[in-house]
Amino acid sequence: MKGRVLVIAGSDPSGGAGVQADVKTVTALGGYAATAITALTVQNTKGVAGFDPVSPALIRAQIDAVMDDVGADAVKIGMIGDDNAAQAVVEALDAWARAIPVVIDPVLAATGGEALARDGVAQTLRAHLVPRATLMTPNIDEAAALTGLEVCDRETMIAAGRAMVNAGAGAVLATGGHLPGSTIEDILVTDGGVDVFETDRIETTSTHGTGCTLASACAVGLAQGLPLAQAVERAVGYVQEAIRTAPGYGAGRGPLNHAHTVRTA
Ligand code: PLP
Repeated sequence: MKGRVLVIAGSDPSGGAGVQADVKTVTALGGYAATAITALTVQNTKGVAGFDPVSPALIRAQIDAVMDDVGADAVKIGMIGDDNAAQAVVEALDAWARAIPVVIDPVLAATGGEALARDGVAQTLRAHLVPRATLMTPNIDEAAALTGLEVCDRETMIAAGRAMVNAGAGAVLATGGHLPGSTIEDILVTDGGVDVFETDRIETTSTHGTGCTLASACAVGLAQGLPLAQAVERAVGYVQEAIRTAPGYGAGRGPLNHAHTVRTA
């Protein structure tokens, strides 16, 4: 059941999003997290002040160090930062991840609007990473950016999901949290059809890192051998409970409670 996940993503010093959220999520769901850091951001619950990408050689060396020794049962990709980093990730996937599931959260901007990807990343995602993904987890803005379609409701989420599946993705979980309404629909599109995962919206400002957390929860499920729909269902439930029990830290959009599965002694 353990499940090793190599997380390739950016660092959030405030601990709510990025690799920090990914490591906590994988751990809280019983898996083992290793990391290759693509960018160092400076941010907290109030917003993103900036970021520096890690050099492509250093990203590749981190991935090689993990894969050459510990190995992975799934890869999760989050923030990539710039296009040199994106190219390094594509090459590393070709070298190491042909036979394991790859979950890609196509991070382009923070919910507050600050860019988390420089020019070229969206294009590389579209051309080289969508076709390599076992599962893409775009929110509505990311789904629109990757397909050129307008994405604003259930039908258009499904259309964007289908477009990414037609472009080579194994499956797409289009997340509906940014749409209004008292029920949130996360929509899983595969070759075989469409599954809708519904949750009640919790009125809260504690949603920082929700996308990172959901994608990592899906990745660890796949690493543990769960069928896709079961991995997604567990992930959606995990995120919902993490939002419901959020600790309320910070003056802005606060972090989730990743540890709700963990019993303290
Ligand atoms: N910081 C990093 C490093 C991220 O990877 C992400 C999103 O994936 C964010 C911030 C954005 O978090 P949010 O969507 O909660 O603004």
